[in-house]
Amino acid sequence: MTARAAIAAMTAYTLDLREAEVKLNQNESPFDFPFKTEALLRIAGRPWNLYPDFESTGLRTALAEAFDFAPENILTGNGSNELLAATVATFVGPGTPVVFARPTFSLYEKLITIAGGLPVPVALDPLTGLLPLEEMLRALEALRGAVVIVCSPNNPTGGVLPADGLQKLLDTGATVLFDRAYGDFALDILPPLHDRLVTLSTFSKAWGLAALRVGWLASTAATCREIRKVKLPYSLNIVSETIAAMALEQRALRDANVEQVIAERERVAAALSAIPEVTAFPSGANFIAFRSPATFENFLAHGVLVRKYDGFLRVSIGSREENDRFLDALSAILVRDAAMGVRS
Ligand code: PMP
Repeated sequence: MTARAAIAAMTAYTLDLREAEVKLNQNESPFDFPFKTEALLRIAGRPWNLYPDFESTGLRTALAEAFDFAPENILTGNGSNELLAATVATFVGPGTPVVFARPTFSLYEKLITIAGGLPVPVALDPLTGLLPLEEMLRALEALRGAVVIVCSPNNPTGGVLPADGLQKLLDTGATVLFDRAYGDFALDILPPLHDRLVTLSTFSKAWGLAALRVGWLASTAATCREIRKVKLPYSLNIVSETIAAMALEQRALRDANVEQVIAERERVAAALSAIPEVTAFPSGANFIAFRSPATFENFLAHGVLVRKYDGFLRVSIGSREENDRFLDALSAILVRDAAMGVRS
């Protein structure tokens, strides 16, 4: 069997899966869900032989109440990955130009390629890692009927759009897909609804429910109706839906967890900035991208798993102990290098 040429030329989404004592490679929350027994009881009380409500009305209503929207403005899915796929498939067809920063979340480019769209990557500044807003605006000016995908804070570099960034992107006439997977760590505010704006959020990061695979998007009712035609029905199972709705009842807990992650991020960032051999990018997320002489393999040898990118590494913010293990590993690697005269 031969796959379509565009698929045959693609690589699959991948991750360097390694065993390590300290896992700081996937931007997960260090805090596990504290109400598991109650969650299991709630799930046990629901019928498992019947299909779930394919509209996920319960969770959509809870989200609408929590974020001051109407349920018609919200779609839920099996992780925001599923909703990204549905959204790209809704707006990107053969030849549609799609502007995005590079590097950014690698899934975007794969989804554009699958849809037959035309990827228009805009390089971000390799020295600061900041989102190249002005360059993206310029690229959009030259394009008609374009889509722009913007991730703020950007994964993997951590840069945040300026406050008027989304409006400027909308003003170009483009359709804007705004991925705020890490927005809670930048204390962002959900933007007002707009027909050409789709805002994607996830329960995988600040809410600490990555294993359950729950994402949601917000847009106008008309735009949600279009995306709903593309999205798979029944993709959100009752286990995930029930637990996500329970998590929403615990917003104060989420806020406290976010506050701790932000405090730890600032502590790690300050420690990194005090090391002359290290350049860290400013981050509004639960991770920090940095350049240093220490390699992915060096960290692994110290039991710390980070994520490797072209020319830099990314470390997720974990618990205080995990972050200390990371910083200790970095110091040990640099001290050893110095002793061996690696950088003499
Ligand atoms: N968007 C970005 C920017 C991400 O980094 C990720 C996960 N790594 C996702 C979306 C997907 O999140 P989910 O777990 O909700 O599918």
